[in-house]
Amino acid sequence: MTLPREYHESHRSVMVHEALHYLLTKDNGVYVDCTLGEGGHTRAIIEATSAKSTVIGLDVDAEVLALAERKLRDIQGNVHLFNVSYLNFDIVLESLGIDRVDGFLLDLGVSTYQLKAKGRGFSYEVDEPLDMRMNLDNPIKAADVVNKYSEQELARVIFEYGDEKRFSRRIARNIAKRRPIQTTFELVEAIRSALPPEERHRRRRHFATKTFQALRIEVNKELEVIRNTLLKIPEYLNPGGRVVAITFHSLEDRTVKIAFREKKDLELKILTKKPITPSESEVRENPRARSAKLRAAERI
Ligand code: SAH
Repeated sequence: MTLPREYHESHRSVMVHEALHYLLTKDNGVYVDCTLGEGGHTRAIIEATSAKSTVIGLDVDAEVLALAERKLRDIQGNVHLFNVSYLNFDIVLESLGIDRVDGFLLDLGVSTYQLKAKGRGFSYEVDEPLDMRMNLDNPIKAADVVNKYSEQELARVIFEYGDEKRFSRRIARNIAKRRPIQTTFELVEAIRSALPPEERHRRRRHFATKTFQALRIEVNKELEVIRNTLLKIPEYLNPGGRVVAITFHSLEDRTVKIAFREKKDLELKILTKKPITPSESEVRENPRARSAKLRAAERI
């Protein structure tokens, strides 16, 4: 059995009100929470539907799922939790004998648990082995990408997935020169010394953010998984059923926008012409909401 590691914080769910507004079309519906995390959205769905709905909660991270199980223990409603990638939601539905559901929610990105619990290697703020796997069975860790990819491949990953337009080659060269790199802090140092000081200071976010994001996306194949899941979803929605996706950076948002557009008029009606963003007060209270964008579509 997987147990959560030492962890004293709580994940604050993002755009709950907006997500429910688009997701819920009936009280007694069946909803799939593709990114269960600590169960905040799942709890909100159960509460908003007076426990008449069924929620199928998925998380690929066994530690996160164990934490959610504990946190949702008091819930009276119909909640079924599975430790699988949302890419495989169809297998779960089949095992439950469910053909179609009323809504899918994807709240992408990392959970507070993954950033703050010891030893996951997602954060540039704590010194740990370079891991970054959402799925602890994934054979590839961030250390493999950093140490085994060619300098050119590494530069491509940092350029494409980090949106690190001008400095990807310099960062990749500096990483290659310093290999083997085993820890987050060694990686931060390699990035630091690749960037001119004025560039480091000019940035609004920490200078390592983009490279860390790039490695995380590569390790977990995040954009392919999001795209392939979204393309599969419409087939499993009841007419009038909804899909809601909350993203946290422009590559995720673009992936959602493009996948929705490919299904537009065939299977989906887009409900959000422009993405919805959180209120000022939410951003003030929850910095993680800062870059959130929500898009929703309805099965025709
Ligand atoms: N909505 C949650 C927070 C979700 S954070 C809440 O309110 O508490 C995003 C979660 O998605 C993380 O726990 C992460 O493990 C999970 N995740 C990432 N990729 C996944 C995938 N392919 N399949 C299932 N879950 C995934």
